[in-house]
This record gives sequence, structure tokens and C-alpha cells, in this order.
Amino acid sequence: VNILAIESSCDETSAAIISNGKILNNIVATQSVHEKYGGVVPELASRAHQQHLIPVIHEAIESSGIPKDQLHAVAVTLGPGLMGSLMVGVSFAKAFAFSLDIPLIAVNHMEAHILAHFIDDPKPKFPFICLTVSGGHTQLVLVKSHLDMEVIGETLDDAVGEAFDKTAKLLGLPYPGGPLIDKHAKQGNPKAYQFPISDMPGLTFSFSGIKTAILYFLRDNLKHDDDFISKHIDDICASVQYTLIQTLMQKLKKASKTYGIKEIAVAGGVSANSGLRSELELLAKKHHWNVYIPKFEYCTDNAAMIAMAAHYKFAKGAFVGLDISPEARMKIG
Ligand code: ATP
Ligand code: MG
Ligand code: FE
Repeated sequence: VNILAIESSCDETSAAIISNGKILNNIVATQSVHEKYGGVVPELASRAHQQHLIPVIHEAIESSGIPKDQLHAVAVTLGPGLMGSLMVGVSFAKAFAFSLDIPLIAVNHMEAHILAHFIDDPKPKFPFICLTVSGGHTQLVLVKSHLDMEVIGETLDDAVGEAFDKTAKLLGLPYPGGPLIDKHAKQGNPKAYQFPISDMPGLTFSFSGIKTAILYFLRDNLKHDDDFISKHIDDICASVQYTLIQTLMQKLKKASKTYGIKEIAVAGGVSANSGLRSELELLAKKHHWNVYIPKFEYCTDNAAMIAMAAHYKFAKGAFVGLDISPEARMKIG
């Protein structure tokens, strides 16, 4: 079974081919137009998807060596994401499925981030808990099987990736700032400054408080010293990162304890963070967890994870009609 998968939910245009459950390639075009705006501009994102989509799909098909007439299905991200961006991928996928007379598979982007764990070994064992940390989401998901997942905790406001990116913006760093904060944090002292660790009930996250705390902290210090940021950027980044990671780890520990599960997976772009990775290693030793983090290229947005989800859906015959529409706020389950 050969499936073409397409991802266009945010600012990455991607296509991948999966053949009998094996990912053959994963072509990703990242949009750089957003850098100077400090965030993704939806209108520019959909236009860039229109420019990138055909070349990216062409490259995926060409490099796979599988001719178009040997594709058995087309899979596409239906949501959640930016409506205009989703529309580009979904419209193309429908037309492509129609023209080749093959079935269409609709994939939930957040489920796919989790299923990225099944691309390579070692794979987590069911049931496992997945902490999904990305630009738009912060979720704890109880994963019972490939296609049976339940959100057991999420953020009330900002996602943790957003907290990284907004902090970076306050520090004058370009978008997406998460990786740059990580870079500075490696040279700084995580205990240099203290920011509040939010204390929400149960498994709920909140990141708006820390964002405001950082804003006031910078404003107060800049009053006395114009160069405060440039002088202390490493310590500021290390302290902010420490706070964000501690906030995540507190809830992850709570989830593991509540459900009695020691199989712990992490998904989404923020799982690239080096502070998060080293903290997870420590917790794994301390609590005897098995921790799983996908390869970096499968952590950020990519079509390989959409292809993986499609592989399981194809096996179940979970196809959709050509009358489906993108769902900007699509939920897991
Ligand atoms: P969603 O999946 O919720 O729709 P998204 O697809 O935009 O959102 P991803 O592509 O999974 O999110 O991840 C992008 C996010 O990951 C950005 O917020 C980026 O700053 C963050 N990120 C990437 N690398 C790092 C890092 N090393 N440290 C911290 N954050 C990082
Ligand atoms: Mg992205
Ligand atoms: Fe994503």
C-alpha cells in the first residue's frame, strides 16, 4: 500500500510517501516570510503554501520512485490549524484523489504529532502518556492505541511554544524564537531570575501569567539599564526556559502518577528543547520512566507523521468523502 500524505496546517508545506508502513521520504518547505513579523501571518502562510505545494508533492513522488498510478490513497491534515493554510492542502488532496480515483484520508494534526513515535524504533507501548508541546498546543494525551486517544490535560490559554516565541519577541529575537532561547539558555544560569510557576488545578496548564511576568520584569529592568537585555540575555533565557520546563514537568509527573503509567512520550516542536530533554532524562532515572522523543525532523510539522496516521487509518478503511471541509479547531478523538 502506497500513500501520499500532505501537511499544510501552519507554516510548513510538506509531503511524504509511505509504503507498507515505511516512510520513504519527508519533503518540507519552511516559510521564512514570517520571521520579520514575530509570528505566522495567516494570509502570507496560505499564499506560500500555494507556491510550495506542487513542487513539494512533485519532489516526494519523484524521489519515492513510485509512479502516481501506484498510489492507493491520499492523506491530508484536516485540522487543527489556520483555515486558509488547511484549505490549500485539503483542496489539492481532494482534487488529486478525484483525478486518480483513489480514496481520501483525513488526519488530525495533533494525533499525527503523537503517531510520529511509530515512524522509528523504539516505539512506546500502549497505554502511554504523550506530552504534546508545540507552537499552538500544550496537551497531555492518554494514548490507548494508534487511533484511540484521550486528552487528559491542556492549556487554558497560550501554548508553551507560544510562550517561548513571545518571550523571544520581547527580547528582540526573530520568529520562531524557541530555538534561539534554547541556544542562549545553554550559556546562562537557570536560577539567575525567578518567574512564577503556574499552579493550575489537575492537569491544566496556563502560560499567560509567566508571559506577563516576563514583560514586567523586562520593563522594570530596562528603566534602569537600556542594555539590560543584551547584557543578560543568556541568564534571562536560561531562567525563562527553566520555568517553562518545570511547569511542564510538574504536570507530567502528576499525570504519570494519576494514571500509573511510566511509558512517557513527548511530541511537537518544543520537544527539540535541550533543557526539556535533559530534565526528562533525569525524571526517567528517578521515576523509572521509559521516555520517547522522535527524531527532530519528526517533531516539528512534517508530512511523515501524517503518512503514519494515514497508514493506520487505511488499514481500518477510515476514508472520507470529497465533501469534507478543513476544521480549524478539530479536536482529538
Ligand atoms: P501546532 O502543532 O500546535 O499546530 P506548530 O505546528 O506551529 O503548532 P510545531 O511546528 O510542532 O508547532 O513546533 C513549533 C514550535 O516549537 C515553535 O513555537 C518553536 O519556537 C518551538 N521550538 C522549536 N525548537 C525549539 C527549541 N529548541 N526550544 C524551544 N522551543 C522550540
Ligand atoms: Mg511550524
Ligand atoms: Fe504542529
